[in-house]
Amino acid sequence: MSIQHRDGSDRINIAIDGPAGAGKSTVARTVAERLGYIYIDTGAMYRAVTLGICRNGIDVNSHADVAAAAASFDIVIRNDEGKQEVLLDGEQVTEEIRSREVNLLVSQVAANPAVRELLVDKQRRLALDKGVVMDGRDIGTKVLPEADLKIFLTASVEIRAERRFLEAGTTQQITLEQLRQEIAARDKMDQERAVSPLTRASDALVVDSSHLSIEQVVEHIIDLGRTKLAGAK
Ligand code: C5P
Repeated sequence: MSIQHRDGSDRINIAIDGPAGAGKSTVARTVAERLGYIYIDTGAMYRAVTLGICRNGIDVNSHADVAAAAASFDIVIRNDEGKQEVLLDGEQVTEEIRSREVNLLVSQVAANPAVRELLVDKQRRLALDKGVVMDGRDIGTKVLPEADLKIFLTASVEIRAERRFLEAGTTQQITLEQLRQEIAARDKMDQERAVSPLTRASDALVVDSSHLSIEQVVEHIIDLGRTKLAGAK
């Protein structure tokens, strides 16, 4: 399957933004797989920096210390046969970056302008050759404002919390209501921060996944890509 861009090349960049738990990463990964594109999970980068900050006992409120530490980390995101691996200074941290500790601190770290500058620069370089599906909070507004297709993927906070609750399985030590509150708090912080807050780009298409399956959302995004590019010709 391929999508033809109006300049004749057959690769476009797709930006997928939205709040936590809307299904962005699964959808973005699947769209990328179907199109033979590269999937870039920018949230994993903020999470890896946050894990490094926690491990080094750095105070998240100390902007200068956080910025200096972030600049010193070597973060690698590897896609291996559809599975994403995250390395922090050479160590596999794919699971650990999803821990509750990281969930609770990541939005504070991501509000640090120096951290954002560092990661946005990295993300832009990864998208230079096109053929990228990138998900995050500021992809359509800041990282790739020229992206050919921008999606704002959302769902009600109740449904997002339920999905995360089910994903976490029975070993978790958190109730559904706690999870809902934590997701709502993270959304609020992401939406209200001064630098690149989570917001819909004016040219992003809104997709509400509350009552849609992953497959339906994926198909819809691929269709939107085709329609958009056909209309531009
Ligand atoms: O997407 P995910 O939930 O893994 O992102 C974790 C956190 O990283 C978000 O809550 C947000 O604070 C931050 N983030 C961001 N900008 C992005 C991607 C993630 O600020 N582009």
